[in-house]
Amino acid sequence: MLLLSGPNMAGNEWKYIKDCLDTGWVSSVGAYVDQFEKMSAEFAGTRYAVATSSGTTALHICLVMMGVNESDYVITPNITFIATCNSIKYTGADPILIDCDPGSWQMDLDLLEQFLDTETEQRNGACVYKKDGRRIPVIMPVHVLGNMCDMDRLMALAARHQLIVIEDSTEALGSYYKGKHAGSFGLMGTFSYNGNKIITTGGGGMIVTDDEVLAKRAKHLTTQAKSDPFEYIHDAIGYNYRLVNVAAAMGVAQMELLPGFIRRKKEIIGLYKKELDGVGDIRFQEVSADVDPNWWLPTIYTEKQKEVLKILNENKMQSRPFWVPMNQLPMFRENIFFHKSDRSDHVYHHCLSIPCSTNITDEEIKAVSEKIRSVF
Ligand SMILES: *Cc1c(COP(=O)(O)O)cnc(C)c1O
Repeated sequence: MLLLSGPNMAGNEWKYIKDCLDTGWVSSVGAYVDQFEKMSAEFAGTRYAVATSSGTTALHICLVMMGVNESDYVITPNITFIATCNSIKYTGADPILIDCDPGSWQMDLDLLEQFLDTETEQRNGACVYKKDGRRIPVIMPVHVLGNMCDMDRLMALAARHQLIVIEDSTEALGSYYKGKHAGSFGLMGTFSYNGNKIITTGGGGMIVTDDEVLAKRAKHLTTQAKSDPFEYIHDAIGYNYRLVNVAAAMGVAQMELLPGFIRRKKEIIGLYKKELDGVGDIRFQEVSADVDPNWWLPTIYTEKQKEVLKILNENKMQSRPFWVPMNQLPMFRENIFFHKSDRSDHVYHHCLSIPCSTNITDEEIKAVSEKIRSVF
């Protein structure tokens, strides 16, 4: 089976994990956690990084630290992985879902601006939804598939409407907008190291920020908010959201490989584009000249989505449709979905992701492309 986006353990993973086992430093403290955090902050160009048990828990802690609660809304795109909306719901808040741009599949900023201008107003320095007066403290943009929207415009809109930006940059490790790394625009950004992401720790996440107070608070809250080194004194409701040293050891080894992985992802998309250029109605994700994406998960758009999915999966070439849009899931059906025509649904019915593990060979990419071409 050719995996869609599988792990690639080509470096020092064995060595560093063995080191944890040999020394007994397998759990919540250990040198690899510190090193992984340091490497992540350096890579993202932020001052601090705090490791977490997953990307989902990283997002949740960011929202907790902003005091988001059940009387609030958080703005986020309608096209995203479920973890974004789940992290919002864990706080009790409700997501406000904004439809996507038809070409880049990121949150549509025209729609966002229109929503903010027509549906919200400022009350006591806070953005509120006019119809019910509920606060909208945070916007959580998602860098879908490692691509990014016009971040200058997004940040300006957020500032104008008093919205705190927390980036779901979990898919965008190695993506840049005007040379600045994803996750370093907002007050906080997040990464995920799930098995299908560009690097993996089996499962894990990271919060990145330039704010020292928030970084310390995140570390405190993700480790049960223990406030005394000896006695079990806890000064808040904390969480067991830490990343263990064994996983961080894998993370350090994967970080060493990351530049090579990003290079390979770019070669993979380049080869797919060459192989599939002009084939039927196939289109690739639109990327602005300001964005240098990591091309984490090459995804194509075609009327023949169903046929392509069928032939690839029948031939053990793992491929997947896009996520079901959030507003179509039972938990979010009643939520605000701001749109004109329903582009999310259109994208959902036309897009599919194709095999792109960093250890896929050029021959395998050509074989996948040939199967895709055979549908047209
Ligand atoms: C992977 C991912 C997350 C976080 O996932 P975890 O599996 O919890 O690490 C969050 N948002 C998006 C958009 C993702 O793709």
